[in-house]
Amino acid sequence: MDKILQKSFDINQIRNDFPILSKSVNNKPLIYFDNAATTQKPKHVIDAVSRFYESENSNVHRGVHDLSQKATAIFEESREKIRAFLNAKESSEIIYVRGTTEAINLVARSYGGQFLNEGDEIILSAMEHHSNIVPWQQIAEEKRLILRIIPINDEGELLLDEFEKLISIRTKLISIVHVSNSLGTVNPVKHIIDKAHECEIPVLIDGAQSTPHMAVDVQALDCDFYTVSGHKLFGPTGIGILYGKKQLLEKMPPYQGGGDMIRSVTFEKTTYNVLPNKFEAGTPNIAGVVGLGAAIDYINSIGLNLITEYEQDLFKYASEVLGNLEGLKIIGKAANKTAVISFLCGDIHPHDIGTILDHDGIAIRAGHHCTQPLMQRLGLTATARISLAFYNTKNEIDSFAETIPKLFKIFS
Ligand code: PMP
Repeated sequence: MDKILQKSFDINQIRNDFPILSKSVNNKPLIYFDNAATTQKPKHVIDAVSRFYESENSNVHRGVHDLSQKATAIFEESREKIRAFLNAKESSEIIYVRGTTEAINLVARSYGGQFLNEGDEIILSAMEHHSNIVPWQQIAEEKRLILRIIPINDEGELLLDEFEKLISIRTKLISIVHVSNSLGTVNPVKHIIDKAHECEIPVLIDGAQSTPHMAVDVQALDCDFYTVSGHKLFGPTGIGILYGKKQLLEKMPPYQGGGDMIRSVTFEKTTYNVLPNKFEAGTPNIAGVVGLGAAIDYINSIGLNLITEYEQDLFKYASEVLGNLEGLKIIGKAANKTAVISFLCGDIHPHDIGTILDHDGIAIRAGHHCTQPLMQRLGLTATARISLAFYNTKNEIDSFAETIPKLFKIFS
């Protein structure tokens, strides 16, 4: 894989690295504020994926020929990069999956299927994405488990006292989002993990929205499982990570059966492969893995600390600008927030806000953001949402702000 030169945080250079950012939409320069849905890809990632298909493509693990060995080497190098990125102890704790959705389904099916029994309780929160609700509901229905939900206040923060009251000897797992995709709340996951571990309860952290914005150290957090969506981390779609502590993953049964996850197969009995292969049945998304490795190289070349610093400044600016716009109401005012601002403009439907902004080349998202229970808690059906990345600028926020009075005029 290409080495990329270390850069300082040069926003113009960074924007040049993302070809799509120079596109026009509706004859206006694209302003991409839908990063919580998926992020754009730097040329470094695009090139790594096309180079793979042009000159390195082969299946991994089973080949003796040169190309297969090269593909396997790149595939495993990426795993090591991801291990370092999350500061996992061992690369065998890094399982390739499709994304956060599959990572949570894997844990619900495998860990839940093996270790949870009738009457056991799982704690979630009121701000979870559907992918951290539905897999638990499915296994709960099958095994007669009970879901307990940590409530939130009107600012969009978890009520930690209530959380502690929910913990009991029946609690067998806690699964919580690190950063809310609808509100931008950064949850105190370290505190939650420490409390859970006092009672020996394992904790899964949904990291879909955290990893693009802040350094995550799974050993420092001491979480038992952590999930990553590659496509939100400037990598390709269809690739993500489940991090799990080795001693847990080793005890868990495979999630899917097939090639690569076995040690030996007879019609009488199959024995399973070691980690991580035990959880990686079938031909994986090899190009996706290559692209994700390249995305991590790219992030590292800038430095996640510089990215966080820039984004925090941008986020503060955006919060102030939006907060001062007449008629615009920010939904979610947690003290600790990042990257995401949900809002309403009077009684204009969020979909209409999205459509009008699109006329000006501004891509935002409108809807329930796959958090319907959260919307119900807030008494809403939908919000409009801008979500930022480190290639966004204050100028773009100003352009957004200029369209809001226009929007009110159209709907007045
Ligand atoms: N959790 C959160 C907080 C998310 O924002 C998302 C994606 N919107 C997911 C889970 C699901 O991730 P994916 O679609 O990449 O599987």
